[in-house]
Amino acid sequence: MTGSETYVCDTCDLEVAHEDAIRTETMGDLDPTNWQTLCCPNCGTRLKTVFVGEE
Ligand SMILES: [Zn+2]
Repeated sequence: MTGSETYVCDTCDLEVAHEDAIRTETMGDLDPTNWQTLCCPNCGTRLKTVFVGEE
C-alpha cells in the first residue's frame, strides 16, 4: 500500500492525506478487519472506504 494518497473532502474541501484521515469501521456488512472507512478529520465526512486487510 502506498500511504501517500490524498483525498478531498466533499463537505469542507479539506485535502486530507491518507495518514491524516480518521479511520472508522465500515458500515454495512463489510468485514471490519479488512475494510476501514476513512473520514475527514475536520468535519467527519466519509472520504473513502479502503481495503486494509492482508493479501
Ligand atoms: Zn471535511
